[in-house]
Amino acid sequence: MKDTQIKKLIDAEKKRQKKAINLIASENYVSKDVLEALGSELTNKYAEGYPGARYYGGNEVMDKIENLAKERALKLFKLSPNEWAVNVQPLSGSPANIAVYLALVPQGGPDASVGAGKIMGMSLAHGGHLTHGHKVSASGKFWTQVPYDVSQKTEVLDYEELKQVASSEKPALIVAGFTAYPRIIDFKKFRDAANAGGAYLMVDMSHFAGLIAGGAYPSPFLYADVVTTTVHKTLRGPRAALIFSRKDNRELDKKIDKAVFPGLQGGPHLNQIAAVAVALQEASTPVFRKYAAQVVKNARALSDELARLEWRIISGGTDSHLLLVDTWMNGNPSTSLMAGGVGGKEASERLEKAGIIVNKNTIPFDTRSPVDPSGIRLGTAAETTRGKKEKDFIAIARKIDRILRNGDRTH
Ligand SMILES: *Cc1c(COP(=O)(O)O)cnc(C)c1O
Repeated sequence: MKDTQIKKLIDAEKKRQKKAINLIASENYVSKDVLEALGSELTNKYAEGYPGARYYGGNEVMDKIENLAKERALKLFKLSPNEWAVNVQPLSGSPANIAVYLALVPQGGPDASVGAGKIMGMSLAHGGHLTHGHKVSASGKFWTQVPYDVSQKTEVLDYEELKQVASSEKPALIVAGFTAYPRIIDFKKFRDAANAGGAYLMVDMSHFAGLIAGGAYPSPFLYADVVTTTVHKTLRGPRAALIFSRKDNRELDKKIDKAVFPGLQGGPHLNQIAAVAVALQEASTPVFRKYAAQVVKNARALSDELARLEWRIISGGTDSHLLLVDTWMNGNPSTSLMAGGVGGKEASERLEKAGIIVNKNTIPFDTRSPVDPSGIRLGTAAETTRGKKEKDFIAIARKIDRILRNGDRTH
């Protein structure tokens, strides 16, 4: 590269990535093949429109690439092209979600129909994503969030309450799938809630898509009308997103295609779409199946060891790639091990100094502020890509404990 300034910075970031223990639950390391597709000449081409219906000439090859990506996406999640459609053009997860709302959720306002403008999503503080109707996001500015929370007692979803809220509020759409929820989601119960409220069910599987692809987490496709996902988290692809929609007489796929382009975006990034296709192929291999299973085993090992060292794990454990640790524990460290009493901000800073990268995170019913919450979120997808196993994560848990505990261990 002739640009030495940027070259130096890329090298510095490469070095940082290599050295750090990366426990950010939404990150991963892509293959050389994915990087090669991303850095290819495909970035030079405009391809506004869809395969066979472009606004620019010269798109013969691009059509083939986009169609291949679509084919692989359906195949990976065992979907028949007669029953499901997929749009591979969303530039990232947030615009994918906004495109679905644009397509399916009518605007509110005084003359709107019942339920118009309402998106029912988990509140941010309990593990939902900004684009599930939070007021700082477009999803909460143009639509109104009907929020739901986890149960205070169990810290898992309360499906009865969910159904009640859906029946009384009658939202146009319910979103299931979160950024900081460690447990298996009962998609059938979400379907029941959606039916009770006459709403569409959208599953945002951004976080656990790779686990589903690898058979380590239940698939939502039996129950959802629409499924969105990022490609760059557990699915281990480039930064991009996909929108799957059920094909029936409601024509969801046509509405969603129109919402993505020309509703929200211009020309698709075909270099990115080619990289998506590469990642989807990689995710369909037996090696990836093993990887997905290992990610979950590693998260359990990390969670169990931290719990043994007397740290409080939200909901008591994990069924996925991520866990939430209550590092504050109401400011009352356990007396035997001095675990607790560290705010999420300080916890993440102390860990970063020691080369462990995590993010601070609110815990359900957090009494502290989002800028300095009570916990941290840990994920195992990235380090599992680098070959780490349960014993490595047990060692990481012990290191985290040593860094975070206050005072000396008494036994
Ligand atoms: C990461 C994430 C998104 C947004 O993805 P971006 O690519 O950062 O825009 C949306 N929903 C959920 C559940 C996510 O975890």
